[in-house]
Amino acid sequence: MNILVTGGAGYIGSHTCVALLNEGHSVIIADNFVNSNQSVINNITKITKKPIKFYNVDVTNETLINNIFRENKIDGVIHFAGLKAVGESIEKPISYYFNNIVSTILIAKMCQMYNVNRIVFSSSATVYGNNSSPFTESMKLLPTTNPYGETKVICERILLDVVKINPRLSVSILRYFNPIGAHESGLIGESPNTIPNNIMPFITQVAKRLREKLYIFGNDYPTKDGTGIRDYIHVMDLAEGHVASLNNTPVGYHIYNLGTGIGTSVLELVKTFEETNKIKIPYEIVGRRPGDIALCYADVTKAQVELGWTAKCDLTTMCRDAWRFEKNQSLINY
Ligand code: NAD
Ligand code: UDP
Repeated sequence: MNILVTGGAGYIGSHTCVALLNEGHSVIIADNFVNSNQSVINNITKITKKPIKFYNVDVTNETLINNIFRENKIDGVIHFAGLKAVGESIEKPISYYFNNIVSTILIAKMCQMYNVNRIVFSSSATVYGNNSSPFTESMKLLPTTNPYGETKVICERILLDVVKINPRLSVSILRYFNPIGAHESGLIGESPNTIPNNIMPFITQVAKRLREKLYIFGNDYPTKDGTGIRDYIHVMDLAEGHVASLNNTPVGYHIYNLGTGIGTSVLELVKTFEETNKIKIPYEIVGRRPGDIALCYADVTKAQVELGWTAKCDLTTMCRDAWRFEKNQSLINY
């Protein structure tokens, strides 16, 4: 299939492009590099040895998006492009609502205009709010604590209504848990331009001694060791989940959790990283981060049964691959 990947130069998008190309699909990337670098595209090509077409466009620009659909025969769209920093979304709600929602509306509109019948949307476990883990797709959503989370809820809702008027359309809502790690080549990975918000890039920067220590946000949660529990998933497993979703999602509106189903605490993650890579990670326990919940892990049964997809990599592999990428960073042509 010919797949338009918005945000394909980003962390999850770039790994998904590798998985798609390896499966024999063709990829067209639309990205404005607001949170990525154009050289990621060369690195995807280095890994896969396959050509990629790319457009340096803002996916909130209707004219430019329309051009892409006019110039290419597109079979499906994976819509990753969006802003994703929770804290920044509180500071800049208008940017977040505009970027994330307008882009989704335009993708849905273009798919309708050009008879494209497959949409895969990047959602997040954040839409479950403070429900009890494990989260199942049929749970009633609870309010999220920030505009970023709300954009995901709203986009899911928009796509649900779009499916209702198009009996040929297939929409997969993929609710990601916590992607970490990198492609085993060490050529692509998570490379935030600013101070990392997420834990793994923070840990790898501490390991590289770019930062003095990790700040652990709270050790008084009702969890096994008091630190927050998350469902970490290798980004290549997540990428494969997108390929499975494109291949196997039937017509209609379908929601899938993409996680491992395993909860890991912050302290367990740090310990696994240290043991795997033989590097000490100094840390300090500080107060809870506003908006964080104690437990967040997936029930992954639905994706297993309906998509035939299961995450394969363990935490050791995630920690090893994340560190390989970080070590490589200065050597990579970014
Ligand atoms: P990322 O920032 O690495 O990738 C997003 C890409 O989209 C970047 O390359 C950025 O330049 C591009 N982009 C943003 N706005 C754009 C616009 N208007 N026009 C064109 N390109 C634009 O983020 P990621 O971690 O790869 O996340 C991808 C998607 O998955 C996002 O929608 C995010 O909300 C969602 N998600 C991510 C996580 C996570 O932990 N990383 C968890 C749940 C959901
Ligand atoms: N966390 C932490 N220090 C950091 C970043 C995150 O202790 O510098 C904790 C956070 O409180 C949560 C877990 O690590 O329990 C995962 O956080 P992340 O931001 O990576 O993902 P999210 O909370 O969005 O699921």
